Amino acid sequence: MNEQNMSGKEKVLFGKAINPSNILPQKLTLDSKIKFRCHPGVKCFTACCGGIKIILTPYDILQLRKRLNLPAHEFLHQYATPVYLEQTDMPGVAIKLREDDQKCPFVTPEGCTVYSDRPSACRYYPVGMADFHEGGDNKSKDGDQNDEEKFFFIVKEEHCKGFEEDKEWTVREWRADQGVDVRDEMNKEWLRLVMRRKSFGHQATLSEQAKRMFFMASTDLDHFRTFVFESSFLDTFVIDDETVAKIKEDDVELMLFSFKYLAATLFGAQGMKIREDKIQAKVVEIKQRQDESVLESVQDYENIKQQREMEKKAES
Ligand code: SF4
Ligand code: SF4
Repeated sequence: MNEQNMSGKEKVLFGKAINPSNILPQKLTLDSKIKFRCHPGVKCFTACCGGIKIILTPYDILQLRKRLNLPAHEFLHQYATPVYLEQTDMPGVAIKLREDDQKCPFVTPEGCTVYSDRPSACRYYPVGMADFHEGGDNKSKDGDQNDEEKFFFIVKEEHCKGFEEDKEWTVREWRADQGVDVRDEMNKEWLRLVMRRKSFGHQATLSEQAKRMFFMASTDLDHFRTFVFESSFLDTFVIDDETVAKIKEDDVELMLFSFKYLAATLFGAQGMKIREDKIQAKVVEIKQRQDESVLESVQDYENIKQQREMEKKAES
């Protein structure tokens, strides 16, 4: 398959490939066996690194920009392009393909130049993971996703010759080899936000401000840090000292914290408490606004009444 034919496809990240006809109709478990190997000797080497949409998760961005030693805005400017996630109105980014050949900017004939920090979608490919309750609440008592609800599937594309190789392993072994487990852990709350949004469909709209906040927290931790530490954020929310110290020091902690904040502000999830004095101030403000509008309507009524009486007098 040439690269032009591949355009419009997406490396599987959210549990579905854009083109479902490439998904083998078989649900796999972690112990299912697959026959697959990708290495520089395959005829198609790097064929899957072009003409394809590679969505970047916040953790992907963090790892890539650390590797490239770039601040978030510089990384986004050079290597990312805006996209909407999973046909929702949630804004995210994908890798910006090279203009001349529509390939990933990190690919060379020798392979991936950022291999040990390659994005999650590149690691998952070609074994996708799905969930019976995408976006729903299928947490177990300890707050984890129920493992028995997950299943795996193979995305088999014509150009991929890895399936002709002899290597056989279980899905579990293959995922461990690709370092997928850490990515799963780092991505899961963010993916859940997107799937939750998707499950609401078009009935609920997200305000522009909420979309901007989601985009900022998902793509630019530098800005999110400024938002947390240089605004009234810490005066507004109850955040314990230990958490404040952790998110100050550690980017991954800050990223995980941003998911909690987004879940609370976008979907009303538990986990972030507004300070009591701020709530009281808000109540007073709302009441004051209500009082003002009551006063305004009383005034309007009085004006109309007065006008009516003047009209009556003029008529008699
Ligand atoms: S990041 Fe690496 S593995 Fe992923 S598409 Fe680019 S070159 Fe290929
Ligand atoms: S074997 Fe498949 S995954 Fe590996 S380079 Fe070829 S197309 Fe990509």
